[in-house]
Amino acid sequence: MISLHDGQCGLCSHFGESHPDQNLIQIRSSKSAPEDFVDDCGHPRHATLHLKVTPISGCDGFAPAMAA
Ligand code: SF4
Repeated sequence: MISLHDGQCGLCSHFGESHPDQNLIQIRSSKSAPEDFVDDCGHPRHATLHLKVTPISGCDGFAPAMAA
């Protein structure tokens, strides 16, 4: 598992936005994620590109997700 910090995709509301599930809730609440986890970025400026990001990726579109 890798630890997550504010500003990283794993804690962003756009991470996996189109299909919220238990994995994302777990990642947000524990602020950690499996090393090989990848999911969609749902940010309007990335969604049409089907951008895939890891929990430790990031961009200036970061918007903090509500912790579970
Ligand atoms: S790429 Fe940017 S907008 Fe998309 S999930 Fe990561 S921090 Fe959020």
